[in-house]
Amino acid sequence: MSGLLAGRTTMRFNPKADISGGNVRDAGGRRGGGAPMRFPVPGGAKAGGGIGGLLLVVLFLVLTQCVGGGQGGTGGAGSMFDTGTGQMPAGLEADGDRYADCRTGADANEDPDCARKAVVLSLEQFWARTLPEQGRTELAPAPVNTFTGGVQTACGQASSQVGPFYCPADQQIYLDTSFFADVLEGQLGGQGGDFVEPYVLAHEYGHHVQNLLGTMGRVRTQQGPRSDAVRLELQADCYAGMWTRAAEGTADDDGVAIFSEVDESDISEALDSAKAVGDDRIQQRSGGRVDPEGWTHGSSEQRQAWFRTGYEEGTLEACDTWATDAL
Ligand SMILES: [Zn+2]
Repeated sequence: MSGLLAGRTTMRFNPKADISGGNVRDAGGRRGGGAPMRFPVPGGAKAGGGIGGLLLVVLFLVLTQCVGGGQGGTGGAGSMFDTGTGQMPAGLEADGDRYADCRTGADANEDPDCARKAVVLSLEQFWARTLPEQGRTELAPAPVNTFTGGVQTACGQASSQVGPFYCPADQQIYLDTSFFADVLEGQLGGQGGDFVEPYVLAHEYGHHVQNLLGTMGRVRTQQGPRSDAVRLELQADCYAGMWTRAAEGTADDDGVAIFSEVDESDISEALDSAKAVGDDRIQQRSGGRVDPEGWTHGSSEQRQAWFRTGYEEGTLEACDTWATDAL
């Protein structure tokens, strides 16, 4: 671990890369029609403690539902959100311009939205190459949708409160980008950094790969340190590690490298984020005792370990969290 470097900003995109192919779009959000559905942040976004009951609920939503319908198998739709209401958020409007000016790696170095677009392009390039290379299926790309307040998905209506998630029913990734500052670095005490969001996107993309490979259908047990749910989540962390290892080698359609540098401090930021979202850490921060029987995503140690396994080994095979009980 290179903890000394954590928090430093060194991830750099290649200014010459063409990132226009990045599959990200903005789904809009609530505008002008009342307050966004952001959850309250006690004491401000950087509050270190004092997690209230409401937030506790929110965190469980964030951390138990990020695979969406995986809870109920591959079918997905309807199992993660309250689909019964069927209401579109008032004032929902598309904001198609959010990424319009994101054209090059230079833009990505300047603008977090453009950085997201470049990362999504890199993830798509990596998995499009890796799945066939390792004898698996072709990649059907997963679009990434950003939103504010609320969004309608094939898994139902989602608010910001659920955190980043993958919806198996429409094979898309959704995130309200306020999650990173408000929750991951705020309530969960992550150190932050440029590579936090790429790690989370890579984790969600990992769920997409699991969906394509049929792995989500293996989930039977939902809680506990060796449950299928935990195996699924740790595998998504492992896949995130695989991409991180290979990110520097990903290129745009003309073969121009997307990143100019991904270094130890980026890895350190990813590991710190994995630590921050460990089930034991969340149980501690929410004032409860550590109870492995309640785990759905794995402990801080497990999440970091599996990210590292993916990073060091670089193969789907090494990420087979079902093949071992030494999780
Ligand atoms: Zn997940």
